[in-house]
Amino acid sequence: MSEQKAYGTKDSHALIRNIKMPGRNSKDPAAWLKQLDINSHDFPYISVMITDSFYEWTEKGAGLAFAGAWDWCVFSFEGKWLAGEEEADGPNHPLWEQVVNVSLTSARDCMLQIEENGSETAYLAMPLKTRSSGEIYALLGCKMPAGDMLKGGRYAAEAMSLHYITCFYRQLEHLFVEDLTAVHNHAERESGRRSLLFQIVQRMHDNIDVDAVLTEVIESIAAMYPGAKLTLYMSQDYHTPLPQVMPVPLKWDTEDVREKAFKDGRVAMKAHDDGQPIVEIGLPLGGKQGVYGVFHLVMHNPEDPDTDLSFLSMVAGTAGTAFENAKLYERSNQLIRELRMSNELTQRLNQSLQLGETFEVAFEELLEMFEADYCCILHYNEEKQGLEAVACNHPALIGEIIDVGRGVGGRVYSTGEPVIVSGYPDQSGTRSKLMDFTESQSLIATPISVGGEARGVIMLTHREPRFFSYDHFKLLQSLAGHIGLAVGNALLHAEVHRLANRDSLTGLYARHFLDQSIKEKQSGDYCGTLVVVDIDYFKQVNDTYGHQKGDLILRQVSDIVRLSIRQGDLAARWGGEELAIYLPQLSAEQAFHVAERIRIRVQKETDPVVTVSCGIAEWNWTDQHLTSVDSLFYRADMALYEAKNNGRNQVVVDKGTEEKAGQQG
Ligand code: GH3
Ligand code: MG
Ligand code: MG
Repeated sequence: MSEQKAYGTKDSHALIRNIKMPGRNSKDPAAWLKQLDINSHDFPYISVMITDSFYEWTEKGAGLAFAGAWDWCVFSFEGKWLAGEEEADGPNHPLWEQVVNVSLTSARDCMLQIEENGSETAYLAMPLKTRSSGEIYALLGCKMPAGDMLKGGRYAAEAMSLHYITCFYRQLEHLFVEDLTAVHNHAERESGRRSLLFQIVQRMHDNIDVDAVLTEVIESIAAMYPGAKLTLYMSQDYHTPLPQVMPVPLKWDTEDVREKAFKDGRVAMKAHDDGQPIVEIGLPLGGKQGVYGVFHLVMHNPEDPDTDLSFLSMVAGTAGTAFENAKLYERSNQLIRELRMSNELTQRLNQSLQLGETFEVAFEELLEMFEADYCCILHYNEEKQGLEAVACNHPALIGEIIDVGRGVGGRVYSTGEPVIVSGYPDQSGTRSKLMDFTESQSLIATPISVGGEARGVIMLTHREPRFFSYDHFKLLQSLAGHIGLAVGNALLHAEVHRLANRDSLTGLYARHFLDQSIKEKQSGDYCGTLVVVDIDYFKQVNDTYGHQKGDLILRQVSDIVRLSIRQGDLAARWGGEELAIYLPQLSAEQAFHVAERIRIRVQKETDPVVTVSCGIAEWNWTDQHLTSVDSLFYRADMALYEAKNNGRNQVVVDKGTEEKAGQQG
């Protein structure tokens, strides 16, 4: 854009407005002009106004009709060509230089004539002076045919120059008023913004909720720039229902105001034209610990191009601090909540030493804690050689066996690596029955380890995609540690329990366990039978073969007993070389056959051969006095005593039991 053109366009008002002038706020236009120092660097301002008013003056063509045919131009107080009509010969005409120089030094009009193309032309320079001090601030040039000059043209030109001066002052005043209004409006807007900022700051700091802070700042900026498009890009994995909030994309153009604002942590602005003027602003949302996001403000055809960046950055700065505070508050609350929940979970887990209950507690707590749609706990089943779904709120999956290494759960178990899936199926393409059955899209899964060895898997799912955050993922891993400990304790407890109830020599149950079990069964069953088995002349066996051989025979007899009974029957070592078998829901008659079978097998299969004698007693819910465990043992022992007395190697049913059977029969 050439200098001359710039001076001559309507933009000059805008240009003038941008020049910072001393005394611009002065009340009186004359005083204002007086303050203008034409020797200072502010002078371009006056030059612009001179040029501007010159164009306005010539465009309107005001003045005498014949003067319109003359050609006009205007010079600065230094004699520099500022603007002129096309036929005014331009800045380089030697005659202009002469008349302007003379006029400047003499401070009076100067006229020279020259013969051009066979006719005489007159060049006239007229100094224009300020009203108060008479300083020359410009020169007006007029080129006319010399003939006109003789017809009083010179006086007409002077009159025209006075008209121009009026025009100049009119525009000066017009500009002054406009300027004053602008200053006034600016001040008003400024005060409005200050009070708005104050309100925003107050409201933002009243909020300790992250969403509320963001809503507040989005609404505030939207209110300041109605019609502008506002988007907030957030860098954290941050869920919000606000439609204006989006995640920061992986890549932005380096020239993008969002990229600049986000990287530098400072306000960035860009103006471009896309058929209509567009202003784009990037505002970082940052606190003391870093930049969390960036606001993107796009204004089409902005009414007020004077966007107050410092104000906007103040709002964004306040928002950043408020957001950070709210975030920290939320985080600390979250930590307290997690700690409390983890505490509750461990407390509940510690209340039970039963494996089944442990899984049930973990399942219930996790489901609630993570607000998951589904939870499934897999536990490795040694017998079935696979992962069994031991707790799950999708009933179809309970008891399901999953092969190690297969599916998401099987893979978590075999690799020992926790998994987070935000959109199922993920890139790995691994399928999951749980995800398929429940139509879930989000998953977090972690192994349950006991003493460094994987024992199971916890899986939590949700139907919404991206439901679980990284914090959830981490929390589940830490809780899985607690659950693993509880599972370990329960397993250990079960093992100790198993060992405590067994006799170490024979592998049969211990006597106290049998006692306890009979009592339990008696509370639910209708009847049952106790068989007492005693090895005949065992003392002699010991004496003949030694104690070690004796132990071996005892074990042989025990094995025969174990193999001769059904699942649910209980065989125990009653003491010394005496064994006892409890047959639930069986009558003495039926038990007799079992005992006979044992007796025959012992005689056949032991080496060296031994025989056994058996005593049998039965209880029935109808005869109250015979039902106690002690009485049952007593009666069985009596029958055994009889079997011994009758010559051993035989089975005898207790008298009372027999009699009763007889009565019934
Ligand atoms: P009976 O036919 O009357 O039962 O004669 P018995 O010799 O078996 O007599 P009794 O049942 O009174 O004797 C028990 C013997 O069993 C005493 C002891 O030497 C032997 N005994 C008891 N417990 C064990 C054991 O754990 N191992 C061995 N080797 N012998 C045992
Ligand atoms: Mg014996
Ligand atoms: Mg004995």
